[in-house]
Amino acid sequence: MSRRPLVVGNWKMNGSMASANELSSSLARGAQSITDVDIVVCPSHLLLSAVANPLVSSNVRLGAQTLSEFDQGAYTGETSASTLVEVGCTYVIVGHSERRHLFGESSASVAEKSNAAVSAGLIPIICLGETQVERNQGITNRVIESQLAPFGPDAFRNVVIAYEPVWAIGTGETASPAQAQEVHAFIRSSLAKIDSTAAETTRILYGGSVKPDNAAELFAGDDVDGGLIGGASLKADDFLAICRAAL
Ligand code: PEP
Repeated sequence: MSRRPLVVGNWKMNGSMASANELSSSLARGAQSITDVDIVVCPSHLLLSAVANPLVSSNVRLGAQTLSEFDQGAYTGETSASTLVEVGCTYVIVGHSERRHLFGESSASVAEKSNAAVSAGLIPIICLGETQVERNQGITNRVIESQLAPFGPDAFRNVVIAYEPVWAIGTGETASPAQAQEVHAFIRSSLAKIDSTAAETTRILYGGSVKPDNAAELFAGDDVDGGLIGGASLKADDFLAICRAAL
């Protein structure tokens, strides 16, 4: 089955109102000629509305970097799915390794966040991945299984999964194309045990030090449907080159 490629930029906690506006305007212009790839950028929450405007009539969609699992109420500092929809988001990243490791998000709360996103009409980008220690121990597949375990049987309709080995995020070290394909195939086969339609249709992105010069080979695997890009998404030319590599 052919799945439409998707490239997502995770800007993390970078940029100002002015630089976010400039970067999104450059992406809106540059993406005009890239019509066969879905392109998404995820600025930090307070920059979402600055970026929504330049992107509004472009083919670049807006995403957030996290959300609350709750709809509303006494949850100081949190942002609900419905607010993200209101500011123009279509996608939201859930369970990025920085959220799991720096802010203690559990796989159970990642599943709840993903469900909250789907209920509000957002497409969650569910991040999975093992640490270097776990890879060295040979337990990558077990880690992925445990990260998928809290999701219910219907939880994978209209979601995106990102395989992001923690040891490759922001380190300049990437999985080899073969390592990436191997884990992507494992994720797809795990989905197939839960929901055969979702296994066919779900886009699985690779993330971890993707750059313009390694993107094409990393995206070449049969089960690799694009990328989740951190550092290289902050430069319009680099990010657009990576989007073209997903074609
Ligand atoms: C990320 O933060 O999701 C990521 C993949 O970062 P980088 O591309 O910088 O490794």
